[in-house]
Amino acid sequence: MRIARFRTDRGSGWGFVDGDTVRPVVRGPGLLDALGDLDTLRELEQESSDPIPIGESELLAPVPDPPQFLGIGLNYRAHAAESGAPVPTSPVSFPFYNSSIAGPGDPILLPPFTDEVDWEVELAVVIGKPARDVAVEDALDYVAGYVIVNDLSARDIQMSEGQWSRAKSFDTFKPMGPWITTADELGDAGDLDIELWVNGVLKQSSSTSDLIFNVPQLVSHMSQSLTLGAGAVISTGTPSGVGFARTPPEYLRPGDVITLEIEGIGRLTNPVEAG
Ligand code: ZN
Repeated sequence: MRIARFRTDRGSGWGFVDGDTVRPVVRGPGLLDALGDLDTLRELEQESSDPIPIGESELLAPVPDPPQFLGIGLNYRAHAAESGAPVPTSPVSFPFYNSSIAGPGDPILLPPFTDEVDWEVELAVVIGKPARDVAVEDALDYVAGYVIVNDLSARDIQMSEGQWSRAKSFDTFKPMGPWITTADELGDAGDLDIELWVNGVLKQSSSTSDLIFNVPQLVSHMSQSLTLGAGAVISTGTPSGVGFARTPPEYLRPGDVITLEIEGIGRLTNPVEAG
């Protein structure tokens, strides 16, 4: 199943993507209450109402207010190498602020005080039910599905501060979407093509098989120190090909358009504008 949040001129809701339509859930639990139970999701899908063309609605960030929104740094071998960083021996984690979340198609706003905003395509995990002290071999039982996250980062500010959260959490810096592809539909997330284009030019092209810490390891690791809530989002890090590591470095400018694609999930596109 693919689960989307959307808005039409009659209001907002959530539902199931079916081809190029979305079938709204008309009654029953909220998305985060249903997310951890595949049987409930299937029942709601059966009862969903007439399809709305996606083109006649606005897709929204699928998880706009996660109980935790976590980033993982330097988690692809080739990206650690291009960053000049050693391969981490333990996941490098940090929080993103929920206020930075944007939806599919929303403009990414470049603030006037940074010239070095960079792109990062990432596979992100959505947790379906509370997870605490979860073993690696049980971790996938807690994963409801996957979304794409663009981990936009103001590099000049990121490099000048010891903590990365602020430089990665400006308003609009976390586009998320286009929908949640459920774990049963996606299958193995350990070998997916992951790509990013700026103005149609391919900048990042890799596979999730290059992850240093994979999805079960990350869910287990984070659950040792906190209770991951239903709807928690863990963005698992970006592969090589980011702008700051290029020769010469490349950064985003107003008028650019960024498209991200992960095999089995879909595409997420956002325009870039002056903030
Ligand atoms: Zn990142």
